[in-house]
Amino acid sequence: MAKIQMKTPLVEMDGDEMTRILWKIIKDELIYPFIDLKSEYYDLGLEYRNETNDKVTFDSAYATQKYGVAVKCATITPNAARMTEYNLKEMWKSPNGTIRAILDGTVFRAPIVVKGIEPCVKNWKKPITIARHAYGDVYKSVEIDVPGAGTAELVFTGEDGQVIKETIHKFDGPGVIQGQHNIDKSIESFARSCFNYALDTKQTLWFATKDTISKKYDHTFKDIFQEIFDNEYKEKFDAAGIEYFYTLIDDAVARVMKSEGGFIWACKNYDGDVMSDMISSAFGSLAMMTSVLVSPDGKYEYEAAHGTVQRHYYKHLKGEETSTNSVATIFAWTGALRKRGELDNTPELMEFADKLEQATIKTIEDGKMTKDLALITTMKDVTVLNSENFIKAIRETLEGMLAE
Ligand code: NAP
Ligand code: MG
Repeated sequence: MAKIQMKTPLVEMDGDEMTRILWKIIKDELIYPFIDLKSEYYDLGLEYRNETNDKVTFDSAYATQKYGVAVKCATITPNAARMTEYNLKEMWKSPNGTIRAILDGTVFRAPIVVKGIEPCVKNWKKPITIARHAYGDVYKSVEIDVPGAGTAELVFTGEDGQVIKETIHKFDGPGVIQGQHNIDKSIESFARSCFNYALDTKQTLWFATKDTISKKYDHTFKDIFQEIFDNEYKEKFDAAGIEYFYTLIDDAVARVMKSEGGFIWACKNYDGDVMSDMISSAFGSLAMMTSVLVSPDGKYEYEAAHGTVQRHYYKHLKGEETSTNSVATIFAWTGALRKRGELDNTPELMEFADKLEQATIKTIEDGKMTKDLALITTMKDVTVLNSENFIKAIRETLEGMLAE
């Protein structure tokens, strides 16, 4: 069978530990045999980031701006222990943070739904995608431990000398204060990323805040979303047969529980932090979650939602067998290949991505899976495969499907 040709390279960001091992097996078994892969390779493994003073991370993000589509392996975010383990020159920043800042993007996370891995919420039939705003609010707040009686004020001093002042509280005794901010530009980017992604995936978009209580702060989020929607997206949404709607956060939470899924839920930073953990654990596991960073001007970076699975890697290094789930990493590849195919008008590439996803799901539904899934499945008598054999089993399913 002739290999599928690509027109434009994918930006490929290699990573660390167990996911780096999986990365190579996935390419050897599921990509190279079928696609004449064109990729611009960046090694984001910690050793090479250290060697290049992290320049490689920046370069990979610039390449993503240039080509439009990237696929990323999980990477180590250094902490004190990693400083000694890898003999680092500096505690390099999180690559995801660096790439997100350059692309100014929003992260969308969605579960991969498989029969036999049932969500805890029994009426959830389709995935729920969480879009989390990744700037500001409590994550960039300043706080004061109030020592005793006194007056707390909120003061803005304009560059033109204008002063706006509000009394927060007249304290009779000790307490606490917090000052949060956000910027219109970041909220606008967030809104556009959400609207673009909704159009892209043909899913209705929900957005919720607490604007009834927060009449300026949260209301600004609500207004910016509505204004951008009305001016730039309403007609496109109508044409695609999808909706945008705003509701209060408490109403959204209640509706999500009663829904059957199949929509995007845009969340402010804190809500997204909390709700994405709820959604992923209720759907089954972090190893079955995809994650894509979408910039407001339509650049895409696909990855797995989990980390480098360090514990399994140490077992692997000791020569012990591992059974690490590669599904989210495979779906990062299929997401990127499908998007590349869509942008380049190469339908063969898009079809291949669909087939590889179907083959992955079918392999699990046929009872062949990694240990993490075997522990939570409702299926009886499943076969637990090691990391490599699971990927090989997917290849076998895929070859069968392609031969049909
Ligand atoms: P992790 O890699 O997500 O793994 C935590 C635990 O979750 C694993 O020990 C394993 O549980 C389970 N798990 C996660 N992914 C799995 C998979 N694909 N298959 C089977 N089990 C899986 O988190 P971590 O160990 O806390 O972090 C390791 C490194 O990853 C850190 O250096 C962190 O900086 C980095 N990280 C990177 C990203 C990213 O690049 N996007 C995201 C998060 C963390 P059991 O051990 O019980 O089997
Ligand atoms: Mg969290």
